[in-house]
Amino acid sequence: MGKIMTYQHIQLPENGKKISISGNRLVVPDHPILGYVEGDGIGPDITSASLRVWDAAIEKAYHGKRKVHWCELYMGEKAAGIYSGVYFPQETIEAIRELVVSIKGPLTTPIGGGFRSLNVSLRQEMDLYACVRPVRYYRGVPSPLQKPEEVDVVIFRENTEDVYAGIEYESGTDANKKLAKFLREELGAEFFEDAGLGVKPISAFGSKRLVRKAIQYAIDHQKPSVTLVHKGNIMKYTEGAFRNWGYEVAKEEFRPYIVTEEELWEEHQGEMPDGKILIKDRIADIMFQLLQLRPAEFDVIATMNLNGDYLSDALAAEVGGVGIAPGANMEDHVAVFEATHGTAPKYANQNKVNPSSLLFSGVMMLEYIGWTEAAQLINDAFPAVMADRTVTYDFARLMDNSTTLSTSAFADAIIRKINGGA
Ligand code: NAP
Repeated sequence: MGKIMTYQHIQLPENGKKISISGNRLVVPDHPILGYVEGDGIGPDITSASLRVWDAAIEKAYHGKRKVHWCELYMGEKAAGIYSGVYFPQETIEAIRELVVSIKGPLTTPIGGGFRSLNVSLRQEMDLYACVRPVRYYRGVPSPLQKPEEVDVVIFRENTEDVYAGIEYESGTDANKKLAKFLREELGAEFFEDAGLGVKPISAFGSKRLVRKAIQYAIDHQKPSVTLVHKGNIMKYTEGAFRNWGYEVAKEEFRPYIVTEEELWEEHQGEMPDGKILIKDRIADIMFQLLQLRPAEFDVIATMNLNGDYLSDALAAEVGGVGIAPGANMEDHVAVFEATHGTAPKYANQNKVNPSSLLFSGVMMLEYIGWTEAAQLINDAFPAVMADRTVTYDFARLMDNSTTLSTSAFADAIIRKINGGA
């Protein structure tokens, strides 16, 4: 705390105060500085629309007592323009850390040699180990499910390990041959000649910090269950170990709060004791089926990187798809909220696309800083706009008798509902 950063291009708003961390909690002043990255492609359209909605909800909820002082941070093409070709400036990393809470639009991954995705760079540089995706249904949104209102799940996806760790050896290379020889000769492994090889690291440290965050979330938000999702039946020492470490964290660190599914049947005759959180686990493949057929049985999911990647998009599709699904990447405290879709370059600067993914990432952000009244105003306004069937093009093509609005007009419609207009 207290460190004064000087930045080259970032300007901290003078009247805002920084969020700090005390013990294990955020300390949020009434006039916090929050960072935002506009993003590439459709980023500017959805960011300007969303900023107006967040500010309107905050003003309506707190009448000026609370107000966000927005601080623009730069990544992607806008950064490259300002910082002489640098897409991910060091001072952006520093500011994200210093401000603790930020939100970003989508970023282009420049095509061509040697560029890592900026999103992957961000997660790795800042060790944002949890990707958090709440998936819930808003009345009026087109859905393929018969009872989409039963979907209300928050996915905690591990962000740093698994087959995403980038430990891969291309078939035919020296490194591949060396590793293949070692695996065959030293460890007795058998596999076809010339197989590409990848390593799937899953650690106790990485698994436990993710599951810990998921259980803490369930406690803070009074969610009845946490489900560990894995393929431990096949990958015993990676995915199976994740499951075991997950139960270990639950029992060792959250004993007064939890009951495992085994204990539920052995000690409680299948009757959930009042106020406890059920810790259960499910195999990943059946989970895809269950989330379609019986989504009401799931509240918080904790899983590894690849399972989480698939599950997040599959579940988002049940309640309106990527145009609406919000998300965040977090470490213990620093959080970067983000639209989960890409830059949709063909729609850039057309004031056309759906801003809801970023908008609801901002709702998550408001909840994260404890401004639940403002978040709730947006949550309530959204279905009212859906009920009017005034939507952006993506929803319009799934809805009969709708009126298609531009990005900014859609934001205006939400702001009118927030302010109690017809
Ligand atoms: P995309 O940008 O997500 O777009 C794919 C399609 O999804 C769009 O053509 C559009 O569908 C629909 N869509 C996306 N955002 C929407 C919105 N806000 N409202 C309505 N519809 C929306 O995926 P992409 O074309 O594969 O990727 C483009 C670029 O984005 C790439 O450079 C990629 O690296 C980057 N990317 C960034 C992130 C990120 O920053 N988090 C994530 C993914 C991809 P229709 O064509 O059907 O209208």
